[in-house]
Amino acid sequence: MKPFWSEKRLADLTPEEWEALCDGCGRCCLHKLQDDETDEVFYTQVACRFLDLATCRCRAYEQRQQQVPDCLVLTADQPEVLQWMPSTCAYRLLAAGEPLPAWHPLLTGRADSTRKAGIAVSGFAFSEEALSDPDDLQDYVIRWP
Ligand code: SF4
Ligand code: SF4
Repeated sequence: MKPFWSEKRLADLTPEEWEALCDGCGRCCLHKLQDDETDEVFYTQVACRFLDLATCRCRAYEQRQQQVPDCLVLTADQPEVLQWMPSTCAYRLLAAGEPLPAWHPLLTGRADSTRKAGIAVSGFAFSEEALSDPDDLQDYVIRWP
Protein backbone atom coordinates (compact mmCIF):
# COMPACT_ATOMS: atom_id res chain seq x y z
CA MET A 1 0.00 0.00 0.00
CA LYS A 2 1.29 3.43 -0.94
CA PRO A 3 1.78 6.08 1.76
CA PHE A 4 -0.98 8.70 1.91
CA TRP A 5 1.17 11.48 0.46
CA SER A 6 1.84 9.59 -2.75
CA GLU A 7 -1.66 8.20 -3.05
CA LYS A 8 -3.84 11.25 -2.37
CA ARG A 9 -4.12 14.72 -3.80
CA LEU A 10 -3.40 17.56 -1.38
CA ALA A 11 -7.08 18.50 -1.50
CA ASP A 12 -8.07 15.03 -0.29
CA LEU A 13 -5.81 14.83 2.77
CA THR A 14 -7.33 14.67 6.23
CA PRO A 15 -6.36 17.52 8.59
CA GLU A 16 -3.98 15.14 10.39
CA GLU A 17 -2.32 14.08 7.14
CA TRP A 18 -2.05 17.71 6.07
CA GLU A 19 -0.28 18.69 9.28
CA ALA A 20 2.01 15.64 9.15
CA LEU A 21 3.35 16.81 5.80
CA CYS A 22 4.94 19.87 7.33
CA ASP A 23 8.62 19.08 7.86
CA GLY A 24 9.02 21.77 10.54
CA CYS A 25 11.74 23.63 8.66
CA GLY A 26 10.43 27.08 9.57
CA ARG A 27 11.54 28.49 6.24
CA CYS A 28 8.08 29.83 5.41
CA CYS A 29 8.22 31.91 8.62
CA LEU A 30 11.20 33.94 7.44
CA HIS A 31 10.59 37.41 6.07
CA LYS A 32 10.80 37.58 2.32
CA LEU A 33 11.42 40.24 -0.28
CA GLN A 34 10.14 40.15 -3.83
CA ASP A 35 11.79 41.72 -6.84
CA ASP A 36 9.27 44.14 -8.39
CA GLU A 37 10.39 43.36 -11.91
CA THR A 38 11.04 39.62 -11.90
CA ASP A 39 8.74 38.57 -9.02
CA GLU A 40 11.64 36.50 -7.69
CA VAL A 41 11.27 35.80 -3.97
CA PHE A 42 14.26 36.25 -1.67
CA TYR A 43 14.34 34.82 1.81
CA THR A 44 16.05 36.53 4.71
CA GLN A 45 17.48 35.37 8.02
CA VAL A 46 14.80 37.36 9.82
CA ALA A 47 12.05 35.26 11.37
CA CYS A 48 8.54 36.10 12.46
CA ARG A 49 8.46 36.93 16.16
CA PHE A 50 6.23 33.93 16.83
CA LEU A 51 8.65 31.39 15.44
CA ASP A 52 10.32 29.36 18.16
CA LEU A 53 13.88 29.43 16.89
CA ALA A 54 14.84 26.26 18.74
CA THR A 55 12.03 24.02 17.52
CA CYS A 56 11.08 25.96 14.32
CA ARG A 57 7.43 25.72 15.34
CA CYS A 58 4.94 28.56 15.57
CA ARG A 59 4.17 29.71 19.10
CA ALA A 60 0.80 31.10 18.00
CA TYR A 61 -0.26 28.44 15.52
CA GLU A 62 -4.00 28.41 16.24
CA GLN A 63 -4.26 32.22 16.19
CA ARG A 64 -1.53 32.87 13.64
CA GLN A 65 -3.67 34.68 11.11
CA GLN A 66 -5.11 37.02 13.72
CA GLN A 67 -1.68 37.65 15.22
CA VAL A 68 0.14 38.05 11.92
CA PRO A 69 -2.17 39.14 9.09
CA ASP A 70 0.39 38.35 6.38
CA CYS A 71 1.19 34.90 7.80
CA LEU A 72 1.19 32.40 4.94
CA VAL A 73 -1.63 30.03 5.82
CA LEU A 74 -1.38 27.31 3.24
CA THR A 75 -4.52 25.42 2.25
CA ALA A 76 -5.27 23.12 -0.64
CA ASP A 77 -7.72 25.61 -2.15
CA GLN A 78 -5.18 28.43 -2.22
CA PRO A 79 -2.36 27.05 -4.37
CA GLU A 80 -1.17 30.57 -5.18
CA VAL A 81 0.43 30.66 -1.71
CA LEU A 82 2.81 27.90 -2.81
CA GLN A 83 4.89 30.37 -4.82
CA TRP A 84 6.04 31.87 -1.51
CA MET A 85 7.12 28.53 -0.11
CA PRO A 86 10.72 27.32 -0.36
CA SER A 87 11.59 24.70 -2.95
CA THR A 88 12.06 22.12 -0.18
CA CYS A 89 8.53 22.57 1.19
CA ALA A 90 6.63 19.27 1.16
CA TYR A 91 3.40 20.90 -0.01
CA ARG A 92 5.13 22.61 -2.90
CA LEU A 93 6.93 19.41 -3.90
CA LEU A 94 3.80 17.27 -3.85
CA ALA A 95 1.76 19.90 -5.69
CA ALA A 96 4.41 19.76 -8.43
CA GLY A 97 4.29 15.96 -8.56
CA GLU A 98 7.70 15.60 -6.88
CA PRO A 99 8.54 13.06 -4.16
CA LEU A 100 9.31 13.97 -0.56
CA PRO A 101 13.03 14.45 0.11
CA ALA A 102 14.83 11.59 1.86
CA TRP A 103 15.31 13.62 5.05
CA HIS A 104 11.58 14.28 5.52
CA PRO A 105 10.38 13.11 8.96
CA LEU A 106 7.63 11.03 7.36
CA LEU A 107 10.32 8.98 5.63
CA THR A 108 12.94 8.91 8.38
CA GLY A 109 10.50 8.43 11.25
CA ARG A 110 12.49 11.03 13.20
CA ALA A 111 11.14 14.47 14.05
CA ASP A 112 14.64 15.98 14.09
CA SER A 113 15.71 14.79 10.64
CA THR A 114 14.87 18.15 9.02
CA ARG A 115 17.24 19.92 11.39
CA LYS A 116 19.94 17.28 11.02
CA ALA A 117 19.78 17.62 7.25
CA GLY A 118 20.46 21.36 7.60
CA ILE A 119 17.08 22.35 6.21
CA ALA A 120 15.59 23.90 9.37
CA VAL A 121 16.24 27.59 10.03
CA SER A 122 17.39 27.09 13.61
CA GLY A 123 21.02 28.05 13.82
CA PHE A 124 20.96 30.94 11.38
CA ALA A 125 17.64 32.74 11.74
CA PHE A 126 16.99 35.52 14.22
CA SER A 127 13.79 37.17 15.37
CA GLU A 128 12.37 40.28 13.75
CA GLU A 129 12.31 41.72 17.27
CA ALA A 130 16.08 42.11 16.98
CA LEU A 131 15.78 44.13 13.77
CA SER A 132 15.85 47.84 14.62
CA ASP A 133 14.83 49.09 11.17
CA PRO A 134 12.57 47.08 8.78
CA ASP A 135 14.45 48.70 5.88
CA ASP A 136 17.47 46.67 6.93
CA LEU A 137 15.78 43.43 5.77
CA GLN A 138 17.66 43.48 2.49
CA ASP A 139 20.94 43.21 4.40
CA TYR A 140 19.91 39.75 5.56
CA VAL A 141 18.95 38.10 2.28
CA ILE A 142 20.11 34.49 2.11
CA ARG A 143 20.48 31.94 -0.66
CA TRP A 144 19.70 28.34 0.08
CA PRO A 145 22.65 26.04 -0.64
S1 SF4 B 1 8.18 25.58 4.39
FE1 SF4 B 1 6.56 24.03 4.18
S2 SF4 B 1 7.38 22.22 5.20
FE2 SF4 B 1 8.61 23.98 5.92
S3 SF4 B 1 7.61 24.68 7.81
FE3 SF4 B 1 6.74 25.85 6.10
S4 SF4 B 1 4.89 24.72 5.50
FE4 SF4 B 1 6.15 23.33 6.74
S1 SF4 C 1 2.54 33.48 12.82
FE1 SF4 C 1 2.80 32.57 10.80
S2 SF4 C 1 4.80 33.35 10.06
FE2 SF4 C 1 4.69 33.67 12.29
S3 SF4 C 1 5.71 31.87 13.16
FE3 SF4 C 1 3.48 31.48 13.10
S4 SF4 C 1 3.14 30.37 11.19
FE4 SF4 C 1 5.16 31.36 11.06
